[in-house]
Amino acid sequence: MKNRIFIIQGDITRQTCDAIVNAANTSLLGGGGVDGAIHRAAGPDLLAECIPLNGCATGQAKITKGYRLPAKYVIHTPGPIWRGGERNEPALLASCYRSCLALAWEHGCKTVCFPSISTGVYHFPLAQAAEIAIRTIAEELGKTDTPEIVTMVCFDPKTKGAYEDALAAIL
Ligand code: ADP
Repeated sequence: MKNRIFIIQGDITRQTCDAIVNAANTSLLGGGGVDGAIHRAAGPDLLAECIPLNGCATGQAKITKGYRLPAKYVIHTPGPIWRGGERNEPALLASCYRSCLALAWEHGCKTVCFPSISTGVYHFPLAQAAEIAIRTIAEELGKTDTPEIVTMVCFDPKTKGAYEDALAAIL
């Protein structure tokens, strides 16, 4: 598994891969953070494809084309908003990663990049989010050869460190 999960620091909108994941909100109509950056970089055709999707439930995922992005697809998943941890937040976060990887599998995506879902304005505690993300990705990759490679694209060094610690603890 170590050669199939990578952690880098960078901007997910610049990644050349089959699919990038968008930490969206349930409207799928764009927002701040990574969501805003992805819509800006993809251009207005992305919003036009998102509008008729009628939103997406927390923990689920929907796929669109990538338009002006170097990625072929965008997989949109609303992460859980942290409300103290007693509102099913950990299971919902794991479900985001599973749902995205299932869509990537269906579309034959060999390379997939994730942002750190829910750890921005949704305030999921970083170390716990990283542990859930890495464990869920490792479990899912263990069941299939597709995707071949999953990369966590962390925007800042603190986030990158948390995912590196989680990867080291699990693998
Ligand atoms: P959420 O609402 O799920 O918390 P945010 O977009 O607020 O989503 O934050 C999720 C993570 O994405 C944060 O670690 C944030 O720093 C990071 N992020 C913001 N912009 C980018 C980007 N262009 N590429 C990768 N990660 C990004």
